[in-house]
Order: sequence, then structure tokens, then C-alpha cells
Amino acid sequence: MIFRVFPGRDLALLFDIMAVNPIVGPVTAARAADGKTLYDFAMVTDFAELCLDFDQTIHSPKNYFLPYREQTCAFTVHGQTWQEENTPPDPALVLFGMHACDINALNKLDKVLTAAPYPDLAYQFRRRQMFIIGHACQPTPACFCRSMGADYVRHGCDLFLTPMGDDYFVEIMTSRAFHILENLHVREPRPQELRHFEALANERQSLFTTRVETADLTKILDLEFDSSVWKVWGERCLSCGTCAQVCPTCYCYGIEEQVDMDLSGAAKIRQLYSCNLLDFAQVAGGHNFRPESRTRLKYRYYHKHRGFVEAFEEALCVGCGRCGTNCLADITVPAVIASVRQGEVEDERTG
Ligand code: SF4
Ligand code: SF4
Repeated sequence: MIFRVFPGRDLALLFDIMAVNPIVGPVTAARAADGKTLYDFAMVTDFAELCLDFDQTIHSPKNYFLPYREQTCAFTVHGQTWQEENTPPDPALVLFGMHACDINALNKLDKVLTAAPYPDLAYQFRRRQMFIIGHACQPTPACFCRSMGADYVRHGCDLFLTPMGDDYFVEIMTSRAFHILENLHVREPRPQELRHFEALANERQSLFTTRVETADLTKILDLEFDSSVWKVWGERCLSCGTCAQVCPTCYCYGIEEQVDMDLSGAAKIRQLYSCNLLDFAQVAGGHNFRPESRTRLKYRYYHKHRGFVEAFEEALCVGCGRCGTNCLADITVPAVIASVRQGEVEDERTG
């Protein structure tokens, strides 16, 4: 990896250089009832709109790579022949200000969606052409990315920025980033700046307050498959699917076939889905393999912390905390995993 430093005022210049392509970045989205500012990723046309000191966004930027709903193909029928409609290619976007957890989430999605035997060509295309600028963050009480090994970036973006006094310390990960940065006042870091960067990283590590014990978790999950805690969490769960909607690593989807009433055309629509939804495991004929909320909720945890680990040697969770923050039933990953280990659910709800 190549390290460089550039003056903070050059960040606006970097934005302007990147603005030849549409830019997506963190912006103020709303204000919560308690006055807290809520952030989300959105198209940004003015550098002043970017909120790079955001704590966490409501949704992950995953949906710029894997849209909630998209048409995968469409046909029109002309007499005895049919023709496939052309779908215009997605524009090359710049993701400006992604946190390490969300970049690591893309690295996990890559393992499923870009790999043989069934690569997702639309995802692969978007992933390849996006330019990703990562940005350092401070942990919130909901973050447990450090426990999931997703608190820093080794690859998966073009460059990663850490504010350091009046300057930015930049980790350069691709040659295209190296060449773009040549337009800024970049220089090699001085020895004391390298030490400062290391000190910042150490200081950040000490700020994590939420920890999830992942050692032996796959074994614990095997042992506790019939644990009563799943019934407790299942009774709490509203089966709303919010957790999957905000999650940067959930990728399950459903396919809908739409046929025109006059049979003049048809389309296939892909829509992201949630394994917590009632009909997720319902098959033709009406049988539902997971009719109870507890089996659906359990399935989500076993996919992320058991099955994916078995397949890829890592969990399908980056510890961003979004599912717990947005769950109306106060179901959080740290609480669920702690309860599985303890064999009981501690009720931490206050309201
Ligand atoms: S865990 Fe929470 S967010 Fe997820 S489906 Fe259940 S109630 Fe909804
Ligand atoms: S399961 Fe929850 S904490 Fe883990 S990556 Fe998804 S939203 Fe984030």
C-alpha cells in the first residue's frame, strides 16, 4: 500500500475532479425525534453537501451496487417473434466517504456475487466501474465492527482518507487513485506523520464499547440450535424485514415475472428480500418451510454467523450495528449472540 498526505483544502479539489461522474456521498437526511441528525447516502452535486463526519447512515451504500428493485430483462412480442429490450448501462458512480465497515461488506458480497459458478453480472459491472473513496470514522455505541474484523480496510476501495490535523493521510489502493491524486498537492508522509497515523488508529481502537465474542461461535451455534432463546427472540420479532433492508451484507432476493395482459411483453423483476418475512420460505403449493418468526430469525443468524463462515471462513456481518439501531423490537446482534452463549435473554428494553 502507498501512503501519502495532502492538505485538507485539496479535498474540495478532489471532489471537483471526481465530479465528471455522478457522486454519491453521506448527507443529512432527517432529524430524529430526540434531535439527533440522521444521515444517508444520496447523490451529491455540491461539495458543501457532503457530511464526512457522519456517525452512521440509515441505509448502507450497498443499494448503489445491488438495487432494492431492478428489471433484469424484458421482452416484447411482435407477431411470431420476440425481441429483448435493451437496458441502458448504469453510469459509473463515485462513492465518496464510505466507512470501513461498508467497504468490507462489499468485499463479502464480492465473494458471492462475483464468483463462479453464478456471478451476478450486473453487480460485477457496477462494482468494477465504481470509484470508492473511503473515509475514517469514530465508533458509536452500536458499532462492533472491530469484533467482526471489519474496522479497517485492506482492499475493496480506491483510496482511504483519514483526517490528520489540517491534512489528510491517504492510503492508496489502486493505480487509478494514484494517478488522480497527482492532481493534488500530495507528498510522502514524514516519519512523525506515520507515527501520528498509528497513534490515531490505536486511539480509535480504544473507543469501541460494544464487543461480540466470535471465537467458537459456529460451534456454539451448532450446540444451541434448539436453544429456548430463539423462541424468545422470535416472539419479539415483528417479521418486518427492516434489518435486511438496512444491512450492507444481506443479498437474498426474489424474482417476479410480469406478463402484459395482452401478452405483448414480459419482464423479470428482481427485488431484495428478507429471510424474516413471512413468505420467504414459502414454495409452490403453499408450503412454508419457516412459518414461525423464531425459525426465520434463527435462519438469518445461522446464515450470517454459521453457514457463511463455513463457506468463506468469515461471517456475513461487518458489525455496522444498523439492524439493531433500526429494529423496532430492539433486537441487536450483540444481544442475540450473548444470549445464545448464556442460554437466556437478558431483557434490556426500557420502554
Ligand atoms: S429483527 Fe427487528 S428489524 Fe428484523 S424483522 Fe425482526 S423486528 Fe424487524
Ligand atoms: S447483520 Fe446488522 S450489524 Fe451485521 S452487517 Fe448486517 S446490519 Fe450490520
